[in-house]
Amino acid sequence: MTVSQNLVVTMNYSVKDEDGKIIDSSEGHEPLSFIQGTGSIIPGLEREILGKRKGDKFTIRVLPEDGYGPVDPSLVEIVPRAQFAGVKNLAVGMQLQAQTDDDTMVVTVVSLSEDEVTVDENHPLAGKTLDFELELLDVRDATAEELQHGHVHGIGGHHH
Ligand code: ZN
Repeated sequence: MTVSQNLVVTMNYSVKDEDGKIIDSSEGHEPLSFIQGTGSIIPGLEREILGKRKGDKFTIRVLPEDGYGPVDPSLVEIVPRAQFAGVKNLAVGMQLQAQTDDDTMVVTVVSLSEDEVTVDENHPLAGKTLDFELELLDVRDATAEELQHGHVHGIGGHHH
């Protein structure tokens, strides 16, 4: 079965930055499962995975515009330090999870003063060229329920 719209793909992955440093990997975790064509993975991957087969191993270079986007300077914000009252040992470079309406996002502390904190709300991988190594473990039809929920159930997906 080759990857096409609305099929469930399960894959092992590792991703390196331009310096060859591994940023993330499924090694030691569950593989990643997603429904092809639903925007659950970055556009550059979704496009290149289309038409690949179960068992295929390949590498893909993803440029920022096909990945997590360019760095947007308007996403750097100064907020009152009081908003971080609950954070222990607040420090420059620290990455914090912030809750938005329907998602969690990661913000990075850029600088600190007594009263204010400058945070960068860009995705930590924004502006980066990424080299992915992928191995497609499985390609299968999605169930009606998975398509309705918009996510995969079971291995590498939601358990509920
Ligand atoms: Zn579900």
